[in-house]
Amino acid sequence: MNNLADIAAALKDTRSVLICGHVMPDGDSLGSVLALGLILEGMGKKVTMAGADPPPEIYDFLPGLAKYQVGLPPDVEFDTLVIVDCSVPERLGPGFQGLLAGDRDIIILDHHAGSSCPGKYRYIDPSAAAVGEIIYDLIMEMGLKISLEVGMCLYTAIVTDTGSFQYDSTTPDTLRRVANLMEIGVPAAQINVRIYEEKPQAFFQLLCSALSTLTTSRCGKVSWMMVTREMLENVGAKDEHTEGLVNYARSVRGVEVAIFFREIEKSNYKISFRSKDVVDVDKLARQFGGGGHQRASGCTIEGEIDKITSQVVAAAKLAVRNIG
Ligand code: 5GP
Ligand code: MN
Repeated sequence: MNNLADIAAALKDTRSVLICGHVMPDGDSLGSVLALGLILEGMGKKVTMAGADPPPEIYDFLPGLAKYQVGLPPDVEFDTLVIVDCSVPERLGPGFQGLLAGDRDIIILDHHAGSSCPGKYRYIDPSAAAVGEIIYDLIMEMGLKISLEVGMCLYTAIVTDTGSFQYDSTTPDTLRRVANLMEIGVPAAQINVRIYEEKPQAFFQLLCSALSTLTTSRCGKVSWMMVTREMLENVGAKDEHTEGLVNYARSVRGVEVAIFFREIEKSNYKISFRSKDVVDVDKLARQFGGGGHQRASGCTIEGEIDKITSQVVAAAKLAVRNIG
């Protein structure tokens, strides 16, 4: 694995950069792409920021978001490709995966333990709470100042990937970085309101119907919820409004593993896993072809929902039984 000094040097030498995050971008993916993009623009580089899917509306306030392109621009010019927060090539999404086979220099910045995207430069730090922390450290390594705009992107990356500093990935250094961002003037409370307290009415209607599916296993340690296309359509909610719903299942007293099933389309389901203290849900998701972190992971499974639910719940029960 490279160190940040190698990557800082490579970025200083490059003239044009394409920066990409993962499919269905979250706060860490977007915040990291934008923070790095704005920094490199400030250094006079030609920068393209892009991803396979549109950013959720809650991130509309992010500085630089207007420059974020959905889909790969056909005539994009770059001599270095930077990939952030993307653990496996498939998570880059259609149209982007092919970039890995190109002849440009590739820099991977990630915090997933099993991160496997190939690159000339790879900096993978599973102890980082967010890739936003890695970008913060990279900016320090480059000896540059963090502007208010870049600070807002970094704060968003960190606050979202730490579950508002609730997850055990949050370290004293996480909070020191955030303190420094606040000293620059990053309006943390205002950003929190934008992300967490400006939900449309449809979200609450969806929450009502999603909560009605909340089920907890007899052992009390596995809890799960579901959202179907029909539930979304009934209340006029979008897929992005399902973000965070898994945390309701996770916050049931005594629950160790929470599972959220979302119907992407007929016979195709996105599954989110969360754990509280012990179970490695990265391992759990890998059983179904996915992955992620020890406390947050996901996968997609094709098939009929009843069969998928019973298979996935059975695997989760086994995982909690194995920890005693
Ligand atoms: P979420 O449940 O919020 O969509 O995803 C939680 C985490 O699980 C993500 O940050 C990502 O690391 C991982 N993840 C989610 N879906 C997938 C997937 O389909 N494949 C892999 N490898 N990781 C995923
Ligand atoms: Mn992340």
